[in-house]
Amino acid sequence: MSQDIQALFWSYGYVGVCVAAGELALRGGLSRELARKIIHVGVGFWIFGTLGLFESRGLAVVPSATAAVANWYIHRKRLLKAVEAEPDNLGTVWFAVAYSLLVWLAWDRPAVAAGGVMAMAVGDAVASLVGRRFGRHRYETFHGEHKSLEGSLALCASTFVAVLAVLTWMPGVAPDMPRVPLALLCAVVATCAEALGTKGRDNLWVPLSAGAVLYLVPSAHAWGLGVGAGIALAIGVLSWTRGSLSPSGVLGAILVGTPVFGLAGAVGAAALLGFFISSSALSKTFRARKAGVEEEYAKTGTRDLGQALANGGVAAVAAVLLGVTGDARYSLAMLGALVAANADTWATELGVLSRSPPRLVTTLRQVPPGTSGAVSGAGLLASTAGAAFVGGVAVLAGAPVALIPWLVLAGVAGSLVDSLLGATVQDVRWCDACARETERRVHRCGRAARPLRGFSWLGNDTVNVVATAAGALVAFWA
Ligand SMILES: [Zn+2]
Repeated sequence: MSQDIQALFWSYGYVGVCVAAGELALRGGLSRELARKIIHVGVGFWIFGTLGLFESRGLAVVPSATAAVANWYIHRKRLLKAVEAEPDNLGTVWFAVAYSLLVWLAWDRPAVAAGGVMAMAVGDAVASLVGRRFGRHRYETFHGEHKSLEGSLALCASTFVAVLAVLTWMPGVAPDMPRVPLALLCAVVATCAEALGTKGRDNLWVPLSAGAVLYLVPSAHAWGLGVGAGIALAIGVLSWTRGSLSPSGVLGAILVGTPVFGLAGAVGAAALLGFFISSSALSKTFRARKAGVEEEYAKTGTRDLGQALANGGVAAVAAVLLGVTGDARYSLAMLGALVAANADTWATELGVLSRSPPRLVTTLRQVPPGTSGAVSGAGLLASTAGAAFVGGVAVLAGAPVALIPWLVLAGVAGSLVDSLLGATVQDVRWCDACARETERRVHRCGRAARPLRGFSWLGNDTVNVVATAAGALVAFWA
């Protein structure tokens, strides 16, 4: 028998033993969840057999590909008690599909395939067991599924350990690659993928995203991105427990923080922290004093994914472009986006405290505080101070002092673009019951607000993206 035929024989035999062990465990009184995990982890570890025994890539994917088809059939007919799950959960099928894809695509770099499969086999199993037993801080993901912070953090920690072990003992990633930060980045990315995956699709996204990190991240950026992802995760979770971010906002913090912390050096990290900490602190400090005014804005004290990306997305994209091209102007663009986000946030948080009524930026007509597109002396002062604050923090971290006037200009320009769009094209609504203008689709009184002016698709988040992009452009050409 040739090597590959023997390997096929061993593969089917091993998987058969795993499934039998799961069925026996179930009949022996173990919970269905635990029985499924025995199969899940056992089969996952076969990746080392697949990579070690097969000589041809084409035959190496045959067992997992046939398993994908078989699992689909088993799922449809509900043949195996141990692997049975909710009717629309195709987790076992996605498991086999991801396994096959990783073996096929990363055949020349075994550590990539093994790391991806281990993230799913070990990380996902630990997350599910810890989440069920110790999950206290629950959060809702898409389609109304619930996960727990404890489960997600357990997935992060166990994936880190599993991937680090793979990178230490298996060849196939660049030899000069720093292993610890790469495993950390892999773990954070897998954690986000698991939180987003529903109906068993986390079995597809966790291994593929972990494999993609191992495959794609260049060794020059591994330290930055790994440490950046770790810091972003820590800050995000801390902000969630303190009420500054919603669970989806934690994902936003990771998506923004990883490239900015990881690719834009101390200046980027300082500017992002300056923005995030000062705006969160202002929201908290003035929440009580502004009652009745701030509720008219779509933005509130607790920020979600959309708001995090609207404020930090442009800066994150600029940081990625900086990392890819090495062009220093993208560092300026990133700072411009962050000062604009901060200027606008400070203006919103502090401007509404102004004693004299604000005026609409287009007609200069006096309007009630909280009106979209309104500007006031106090607001302009606050946006200038907000831009100067983040610019100053960036200078302390090493940016040239001569940048400050440009950054203040970028910040105030971004803030004015925000007001201009707010007064013209932004979706602004009217609550008939309260006779008040609002940015919310459902007013705080609970009634639906009807469209007053602007485009219904152009909400506050889109306006923030345009405003921060304006700040980035001004700074880019500085
Ligand atoms: Zn109302």
